[in-house]
Amino acid sequence: MIIVFDMDDTLYLELDFVRSGFRAVDHWLAAEFRVGGFFTTAWRLFEGGQRERVFDAALTGLGVAAEPRLIDELVGVYRSHWPMIRLAPDAARALERHATRDRLALLTDGYLLTQERKIEALELRSCCDPVIATDQWGRDYWKPHPRGFMAIQSRFDCPPADFVYIGDNPSKDFLTPKALGWKTIRIRRAGGLHAGQVALPDHDADLTITTLDELDRDDVQRLLAARSRPQERASLPQPEEALT
Ligand SMILES: [Mg+2]
Repeated sequence: MIIVFDMDDTLYLELDFVRSGFRAVDHWLAAEFRVGGFFTTAWRLFEGGQRERVFDAALTGLGVAAEPRLIDELVGVYRSHWPMIRLAPDAARALERHATRDRLALLTDGYLLTQERKIEALELRSCCDPVIATDQWGRDYWKPHPRGFMAIQSRFDCPPADFVYIGDNPSKDFLTPKALGWKTIRIRRAGGLHAGQVALPDHDADLTITTLDELDRDDVQRLLAARSRPQERASLPQPEEALT
């Protein structure tokens, strides 16, 4: 079995990255402009459900003009900082358990530098090969574009049914691997940003779990052991089919 993991909210909590990024911006603003309080303000906004223009709103809340150039700088600090994140405990256990009995790989979307730094912080190259960040080819190749999935598939001399993709975002994670004949598992991790999302029928995974400890569940083991499964779609999805 080749287990291919998504990264954000599959192997660690993305909320921890957001918190880490806000801290980095907080330190930068304090050092460059002697502005304090960014972290507390931004985190309060984020926890209150704000997902768009959090930096603008936080600066405004601190009485600082949200000039586009300053916002660009803050976004740069956020995306390029060395994140203080760690594997979820169940993810650490699963990687260790499956490293000895399966082949492990990683397929992740997001800005390349940001994702590379997360990969390094989580030491994922020590257990996953290949490690593929789709942004190396540009935004057009983020999931559900098939290129990343096919790049992984081409690395192994195995039928599609030997692959399983484990991810958390039903908008983009499962459509393509299902079309390729892979198995799919959705993790609805407590605190995950997409944990409450209702999946459209085509976009749902074969099975859902809430922690990676459940990979040892009987029905999961039966799914992984099944030799092959029918193609659910005749053709691969086009990128515009992604909902986000
Ligand atoms: Mg994810």
